[in-house]
Amino acid sequence: MKPTGPIPAGFTATGGQLVIGAKTADEWIAEAGGTPLFVYSEARMQAQMAALRDAMPRRLSIHYAIKANPFRGVIDAMAPLVDGFDIASGGELAMLMEAGIDPATVSFAGPGKRDEELRAAIAAGVTLNCESEGEVERALAIGQATGHTPRLAIRVNPDFELKGSGMKMGGGAKPFGVDAERVPALARRIAESGAEWRGLHIYTGSQALDHEALIETLGNILDLAFRLCREAGVGLPHLNMGGGFGIPYFHGDEPLDIAPIGAFLGERFADLPEEFAATQYAIELGRYLVGEAGVYLTRIVERKESHGHTFLVTDGGLHHQLAASGNFGTVIRRNYPVAIANRFDAPVEEVASIVGCLCTPLDRLADAVEVPQAGVGDVVAVFCAGAYGATASPAQFLGQGPAREIMAPATGS
Ligand SMILES: *Cc1c(COP(=O)(O)O)cnc(C)c1O
Repeated sequence: MKPTGPIPAGFTATGGQLVIGAKTADEWIAEAGGTPLFVYSEARMQAQMAALRDAMPRRLSIHYAIKANPFRGVIDAMAPLVDGFDIASGGELAMLMEAGIDPATVSFAGPGKRDEELRAAIAAGVTLNCESEGEVERALAIGQATGHTPRLAIRVNPDFELKGSGMKMGGGAKPFGVDAERVPALARRIAESGAEWRGLHIYTGSQALDHEALIETLGNILDLAFRLCREAGVGLPHLNMGGGFGIPYFHGDEPLDIAPIGAFLGERFADLPEEFAATQYAIELGRYLVGEAGVYLTRIVERKESHGHTFLVTDGGLHHQLAASGNFGTVIRRNYPVAIANRFDAPVEEVASIVGCLCTPLDRLADAVEVPQAGVGDVVAVFCAGAYGATASPAQFLGQGPAREIMAPATGS
């Protein structure tokens, strides 16, 4: 037997059925037209945001990085909750425009922005988090040619990293951002170019569960931003401090304690140097806001035994939930939280492995987990599926195609 991660709060059982929002898993499957299916709970997103707002100082802006989940219903659910959105491609820009999001609240990072993406972002009035001197020059040239004033910030490659984060994106040689020592000259170039100087973006990593590491990093980010702007002799209208807030996926993961992070930021904001007192400070989060709100539902199509081991073979798999299979940036494969959705409160009766329908040994959704007896027709729920699921998985692999996706609206909305 191998342990699973903790099932996120807020999921209950009615008559044995997993309830997501106002309906059971079976009802969502019927409404969506079948499995495999992602269901996203708006109430869970609202609760997560409310707790975060509660813990953070009022003046901190909170942005949603739609890379985590760009499903239209999720964007619509997040729009009234957050202060802005972060994108990493022209495709994501188009999704936000389609959803009617105010482009003035959007910032665009990404090391390989094509000219057409820059053009669309500049025309819309999106802030570009520029990742190289070359990108700044291309953006300025596009602004000149089109008569739009580009809104330019610099993404800094800091000389420190976020300790204990799942994915490090700063420190040392990196394709992301401009090395810190080259930032002052580039900031002056932007400020003198006639473009709108928007400040700095410093993103150091992802999936951190240790609040002390996050506090240390946020402190370093503030210090670095102040130092760079002083050295450049420019102001700091906006500072995007990244994020990296993680969620518990695996057995033994403790939820991130956000209260001390909020307290730390509150102290720093209460004691800002005068020239940075009017700066707008933001964090950008993806998985922390939506990850635990999503459940992936996949139906068992076969139950089989091999050498004394039970396999529950589902109609889904890694082509929708690559991360749960352990093939999306994890070194050691561990089990996500899983359950049998239509026997959600039933006692454990056996140990089985839950696999996908793909013809590859990589396609394992849960390895040797304790489950109630389950067989053909029963539905497996994989939790923590709200971020880096549907759009971060190779849906076309083996000709399978995408999963269905549906929003579970908060009752009363
Ligand atoms: C991926 C990414 C995010 C979101 O990361 P999460 O781990 O989902 O919070 C935010 N900002 C940038 C620049 C990113 O690349």
